[in-house]
Amino acid sequence: MFKNIIAPVQAWLLSQGKCVGCGRLLSKKSGKGLVRVTCHCGRVYMYDSGGGSFRRATLDEIK
Ligand SMILES: [Zn+2]
Repeated sequence: MFKNIIAPVQAWLLSQGKCVGCGRLLSKKSGKGLVRVTCHCGRVYMYDSGGGSFRRATLDEIK
């Protein structure tokens, strides 16, 4: 039930370029394709430099 509430909030935070854990603004790195961005709190994101959007990194990408 909580997931139904939290998921849209997290999606909104990511659309603002913010970490879903601490709300800190994620740095938009320049590069081609997907760029890995690690937040100060340790959460890892993938930044799509083409689309200009963030998403959570999958476990495979964190390794
Ligand atoms: Zn964070």
